[in-house]
Amino acid sequence: MSEGQTLLLILILLYLTECLIWVKRESVAFVSRMGGRWRLTVPPSWLGNANGGLLFLNPLPPAGRVFLSHLSPISISPSGICAYNLQTLPSEARSPGQTGHFLPFNKITRSTTDGVYLLVNGERFAKCATARQARTLAKLIGEMAKVSTGKRERLARNWISEQFAIDDAAARLREGNIVIQPMRELSLILFLFLFVVAPVLVTSFGLTGLVIPVAAVMVILAVLIGILFHRAHKQLFPAETSERFENLVKMILCPPVSIRAPDILTRNLLAEYSPIVLANLLTGSNEQQFVRAFILDLQHPLKHEVSDETAEKTIGWTAAEQLNICLEQVKDGRYLKPEDLSAPTQREENSISYCPRCRCQFVVSAAECPDCPGVTLVDF
Ligand SMILES: [Zn+2]
Repeated sequence: MSEGQTLLLILILLYLTECLIWVKRESVAFVSRMGGRWRLTVPPSWLGNANGGLLFLNPLPPAGRVFLSHLSPISISPSGICAYNLQTLPSEARSPGQTGHFLPFNKITRSTTDGVYLLVNGERFAKCATARQARTLAKLIGEMAKVSTGKRERLARNWISEQFAIDDAAARLREGNIVIQPMRELSLILFLFLFVVAPVLVTSFGLTGLVIPVAAVMVILAVLIGILFHRAHKQLFPAETSERFENLVKMILCPPVSIRAPDILTRNLLAEYSPIVLANLLTGSNEQQFVRAFILDLQHPLKHEVSDETAEKTIGWTAAEQLNICLEQVKDGRYLKPEDLSAPTQREENSISYCPRCRCQFVVSAAECPDCPGVTLVDF
């Protein structure tokens, strides 16, 4: 292999590592390949563990075609907080990190963060998907611990309804697209230069005379992307100074990674909104199956291991509030038709019951669904 080919191979490998992202079990990824339709995408099971998996993004440009949504690792009710979320994303189990630990608000003196960890009274309470999610929760818990019960209820309700604010999410998506688009174009130019133009030039004229000019163009383009990235990141994520700094350093030290800079911005742009809001905004009606499963899961949650009564009330309260909002939005014509959530209309031969969660039909009644622990079958 010639020196030029070795260099190209190194650049390609460096670039490909930037196309891998970690998706936690409580997170959902929406990806559009080659700028086409948005799809809900799950990491392959062989590329992960109990906590999540690696998702390989399409290495071909344009970059910035991935959005994540993270479920909350905790439940919050007017009475307290519990390190447990009743929800499971379709066909997935709950994360093993959920302890079910409960704290009433009168026992909470302070809430802070340590990176992605939410600390309550100075101790680790839950692990969040991002530092930003941890900070949002810490701030909310701090505020709720200070006020009366009535005000707590309003704060908890606001927290949940903000996750379902489709119009706000749409506005943020528009704002994001405006500042990210120039970066997408520059990163496409850098991609074409590094992986098409430079190899052709080196093959025709030899490596020796071209190393410095090629490196100079690469660095100039990376710096330009870095400047745009800094500006866009500051506008979209004003509080995330360490993420901004870390990524800028990476781009300067290793220019090929700046091609994927738009991914860093889109990844968590809509992360605080519910997965079904993203499904609605990005895919239109392509992910109806997912939206239905999401709502039915809130309505008929799987069995859980939390035995403390107050803790159980808190996780139930959070799930019920979310379900109410979802059903209201369905009634207003969002996501699905209301009848999509009712009993199956097509009754299979001999079946006498169905599972209200996964909609499978059965020839037995008064039993538990074999696929949904804790959910009892309903007779037709
Ligand atoms: Zn079932």
